[in-house]
Amino acid sequence: MNNNPTALITGGSSGIGLGIAHEFAAAGYNLVLNGLEENGDEIAAEVGEKYGVKALFSNANLLDPAKIKGLAVFAEENFGTVEVVVNNAGVQYVAPIDEFPQKRWEMILGLNLSAAFYLVQALWPGMKKNNFGRIINIASAHGLRASAFKAAYVSAKHGIVGLTKVMALEGAEFNITANAICPGYVLTPLVESQIADQAKSHNMTEEEVIEKVMLKKHAKKEFVTVEALGQMAVFLASEHASTFTGTAIPIDGGWTAQ
Ligand code: NAD
Repeated sequence: MNNNPTALITGGSSGIGLGIAHEFAAAGYNLVLNGLEENGDEIAAEVGEKYGVKALFSNANLLDPAKIKGLAVFAEENFGTVEVVVNNAGVQYVAPIDEFPQKRWEMILGLNLSAAFYLVQALWPGMKKNNFGRIINIASAHGLRASAFKAAYVSAKHGIVGLTKVMALEGAEFNITANAICPGYVLTPLVESQIADQAKSHNMTEEEVIEKVMLKKHAKKEFVTVEALGQMAVFLASEHASTFTGTAIPIDGGWTAQ
């Protein structure tokens, strides 16, 4: 076994999480990727081989606190220590308040907020013991700004920005830092399905949805790249970022500058 540090990334087998996984692997981290993708083992193996690091996959369902604990144990048993955790798994649902299904509300709060808390809680004793930990929460520009019809998502993302600050305060004496990254729109499977849905509901073409609905909020009319998010995450995990803690960093094409 190599002596590389370990990064555990939820939602690491798709979209932003997978992009972040590539950047950590390129920087020499072993990986534990978690997600529901059926080909997760293959995805992890591919990333591991490409960069010459060890990469494992777990399909623990993060809506189940016992499985979250199991994920932390799986990572620690395989690698000894977990230096970095990236809480990235998340889902979205769009509906007006009076029509918002309560089950969706609970699911979004459960995955986008509570799962991050439970996973950090499970990894906290190990990080304290090592006197080192880097917690990176993938929030959203919606952790800093609201949009109509996204009650659960905006609540969960504002919640995780607050949780990040508490983790930073409690972690400081143990050299554990916690930061949130707040992306604008990134072209991932999550957003691709929103484009298709919104095209139907607004009776627009997909190109019109991208231009008139999504990138409308970006001053810079480009999607944020997964590479930009991954590079920021690797920096936040580095020794040089030891005083970077409790922040919520927008990478959003200028959305939250307004
Ligand atoms: P994605 O749909 O590509 O990936 C989501 C990941 O979460 C997948 O790996 C999926 O398997 C996993 N997942 C879903 N339910 C799960 C469960 N119950 N248990 C375990 N894993 C589960 O989405 P993405 O766009 O890459 O989004 C990743 C994160 O970034 C989310 O938190 C999202 O809110 C946030 N974000 C995305 C954008 C964007 O524009 N794509 C913008 C801002 C923030």
